[in-house]
Amino acid sequence: MSEGASPPRRVSILGATGSIGRSTLDILRHAGPGAVEVVALTGRDNIAGLAEAAREFRAEVAVTADPSRYEDLKAALAGSGVEAAAGERAVIEAAARPADWTMAAIVGSAGLAPTLAALRQGRTLALANKECLVSAGGLFIEEAARAGAELLPVDSEHNAIFQVLDRPNRAAVEKILLTASGGPFRDWPAERIAEATPEEAVAHPNWDMGAKISIDSASMFNKGLEMIEAMHLFALRPDQVEVLVHPQSIVHSMVAYVDGAVLAQMGAPDMRHAIGHAFHHPARAPLPVERLDLAAIGALEFRAPDPVRFPALRLAREAMEAGGLAGCALNAAKEAALEAFMDRRLPFMGMAQVVEEVLSALSPFAPAGSLDDVFAMDALARAAAGERIAARIRASGLGKGAAFA
Ligand code: NDP
Ligand code: MG
Repeated sequence: MSEGASPPRRVSILGATGSIGRSTLDILRHAGPGAVEVVALTGRDNIAGLAEAAREFRAEVAVTADPSRYEDLKAALAGSGVEAAAGERAVIEAAARPADWTMAAIVGSAGLAPTLAALRQGRTLALANKECLVSAGGLFIEEAARAGAELLPVDSEHNAIFQVLDRPNRAAVEKILLTASGGPFRDWPAERIAEATPEEAVAHPNWDMGAKISIDSASMFNKGLEMIEAMHLFALRPDQVEVLVHPQSIVHSMVAYVDGAVLAQMGAPDMRHAIGHAFHHPARAPLPVERLDLAAIGALEFRAPDPVRFPALRLAREAMEAGGLAGCALNAAKEAALEAFMDRRLPFMGMAQVVEEVLSALSPFAPAGSLDDVFAMDALARAAAGERIAARIRASGLGKGAAFA
């Protein structure tokens, strides 16, 4: 470290082997020599990718969430000086190691406990894992306040809103406009969507993302989760959160104010924008992203979403209005349905049907008194979804190993 330079920032990445994790590593590469000291990197199945990143960044510890892969990880790290660990508990412990800045990018509600461990350090948490806010909502925000943590949204829409939010005039916000690309089935007729395969659903037109969030974009469950995420993150009423289909994915979201002004944040569809913003905040630094050429893009389109072909938006709104643990139930049922769709045990539109059935079976929803309530509801909704998926397979007469699409 040269004289006068600031000490390196201690950085951890939860979900370092995923799409957001790899983009975060790229931002660190561009941060310059001596800017960061990597504490913990976590992953699950991709042992080679985890070990490679841990070696490159000389991480203190690399952790796989899968306990059966401990020996593999240890072998991959042999001679590197990087500590190896495995299992869910080890991921949580790694998240609790002192770090100035942590990226929370584990996919799904599996990210909740490790993200909370990082949050409780009271440092800066860059939050990509939207499921934390969808499932634990108000409790998660309360934990952040109690710990004195700085919460920086990384989901591109929420990061955009964060950038254009007029904080001193917070009460002047009329509503937010979450933009949605509409996914690969945006213009498909309902009959065609009903027969969509996992391969078709995973192929997002604008964004390069992990498989699960790509499929959630196709069903628009991703936007549904983002509505709930925004409500908690920005302390909004459900009626202040609106969705607008914007096929070009250039306007990442907007805030509408009481004086009629609408402030938008724009950029190329590249998650390194939001990640880099959260990394350098409150400063701004050059980022390795494409510059916008609006003259070449020419036109930006906006339209209202179709609630019939994309019932996920209606279900999310119902969950927002129901409050309490409804978001947790929606997310857990959706995760179970998504797994079933990926395994071809459920057709594409079956995902929304299963979620709707689970929500109506479990309602009304009590408020979450504690995180134990959140974990209990997650398990309950997952089990309820599993029963409904199994019943559908039985009713289809296909039996075990049934395959749709
Ligand atoms: P990926 O599927 O690409 O990566 C997920 C990461 O989580 C990987 O590191 C994976 O490890 C790890 N992981 C998977 N299951 C578990 C588990 N049970 N326990 C611990 N770790 C696990 O996901 P994305 O990067 O696309 O998304 C990460 C989060 O960010 C999600 O919550 C998503 O909604 C959110 N997000 C993503 C965006 C994107 O552009 N990708 C945009 C906005 C939000 P491994 O690969 O080694 O198995
Ligand atoms: Mg998003």
